[in-house]
Amino acid sequence: MQIARPDSAVEKILPGVADFLDSQLTMVIGDQKVAGESGQTFPVFNPATGQKLADVPSGTAQDVDKAVTAAQAALNGEWSNMLPADRQRMMLKLADLIEANGEELAQLETLNNGKSVMMSRLIEVGASADYIRYMAGWATKIEGSTIDVSIPVPPGAKYQAYTRKEPVGVVGAITPWNFPLNMAVWKIAPALACGCTVVIKPAEETPLTTIRFVELCLEAGLPAGVVNVITGSGAEAGAALTAHPGVNKLTFTGSTETGKIIGVQAMQDMKRVTLELGGKAPMVMFDDMDMDQLGIAAGIGALFNTGQTCCAGTRIYAQKGIYDKVCDFLGGMVGSLPMGSGLDPVNQINPMVSAKHQNHVKSCIARGVEQGAKPMLNAGDYDGEGFFVKPEIFTDVDQKMSIMQDEVFGPVLTITPFEDPDDAIAMANDTRYGLGASIWTTNLNTMHRYVPQIEAGTVWVNAHNLPDQNMPFGGYKQSGVGREHGRAALDNYLETKSVCIALG
Ligand code: NAD
Repeated sequence: MQIARPDSAVEKILPGVADFLDSQLTMVIGDQKVAGESGQTFPVFNPATGQKLADVPSGTAQDVDKAVTAAQAALNGEWSNMLPADRQRMMLKLADLIEANGEELAQLETLNNGKSVMMSRLIEVGASADYIRYMAGWATKIEGSTIDVSIPVPPGAKYQAYTRKEPVGVVGAITPWNFPLNMAVWKIAPALACGCTVVIKPAEETPLTTIRFVELCLEAGLPAGVVNVITGSGAEAGAALTAHPGVNKLTFTGSTETGKIIGVQAMQDMKRVTLELGGKAPMVMFDDMDMDQLGIAAGIGALFNTGQTCCAGTRIYAQKGIYDKVCDFLGGMVGSLPMGSGLDPVNQINPMVSAKHQNHVKSCIARGVEQGAKPMLNAGDYDGEGFFVKPEIFTDVDQKMSIMQDEVFGPVLTITPFEDPDDAIAMANDTRYGLGASIWTTNLNTMHRYVPQIEAGTVWVNAHNLPDQNMPFGGYKQSGVGREHGRAALDNYLETKSVCIALG
């Protein structure tokens, strides 16, 4: 394996990024940048070097309360009186501002999360701006329907009914660290399109681009309190937001374990809730697949974002006729990917987000070996600076092993042979998760036969790991509740009111 130096930065840090990191970082409540009630901070790190990047306020329950109060005031104030076209215009301006500040945001994301700066540009900046524009389009297209009813009393009476779609209210958004800015936008953009207001709590590992994004919301002209950010821990700030009675709807992306806690808490006062949770996606490769697509399957399907992707296709099932070729190809390719800082776009294997996550991935690999799976690359430990993990591929894996069942969220793959396609689908479905999956075949019959049998919210064919703002996204089984993206996502942020008028 070629190992680039973790600090092999080829890009100079922009002055705007350096100034932001040198400034006193704050939360945003209303239109105020605030340090928080406690005055306490916590450090965030550059995963490529392990060095501290900045200190960020530790938000408390009091800060959450202030932010929810600001969001309620905005909901009942200027924001609610704006025309949908005004909301749309502000959202389009926000998208422009993201692009105008794109290089700074991309560098900031790479410094804080570790991902390739190419990915930061493409996803965190580019896809986020596109997402806001897509949702801005919906702001002017929210509609109810007229309904004919058959109410028989009193005899001869006539009624006309219709539905109104109304903003659900204050949205509490809690996001993970793997796509920090993009995940924030997946939640905030539809909420704004529907006329809601938001308090967002980003992951403690990666709060920087969300802070900057909320500052840009104010620059775009969104009234004070429409979008607020509270930084801090899940246990304190996240839990306070989840429990706050002024929050009407929770939207969460993160692990299944945390999602269960949030779901149970939401039901205490019947908050509306959507949960986008973990995954353990299978890629089922049939003998007739186009072998030229193996590179895409590995690079985008499995190792996109160094495997720190909820849909990562890390369980590969290869039919007997191609199994050896798949092993040879992936072994050669994955073993030679350059590893190093995301600031050097050459590097395709970037660090894990934190020392804690690095240890988690390393312990998953160690447990795989202990349980008897065969490490093909035998890559061993990385012992330099930064939170890197060398990729590993396991063969001889039993379905019951933890390496097959538990989410690793890193550059660790399994390859398992199959003969009978029905067995492959049964193994693909043998998981508590059901977020994404793919099948790889050139046979239309195989595709149509097996797509319906796969238990996952998204099934790709000859592709993997490619969401789109217009394509519903969410999980079967323990991968979540509800769908993001597309027209249907708006219903997450709207209440439906039936109006029934007795005609004179
Ligand atoms: P996590 O569950 O540890 O944390 C996610 C967020 O929840 C963080 O902001 C954290 O501070 C907060 N949190 C933690 N405990 C909380 C509590 N008790 N109350 C309220 N908030 C709390 O997840 P993570 O490690 O940041 O992210 C990785 C996970 O996210 C993986 O499981 C991955 O599959 C999942 N994910 C899912 C999707 C999807 O769309 N389905 C997308 C990205 C990531």
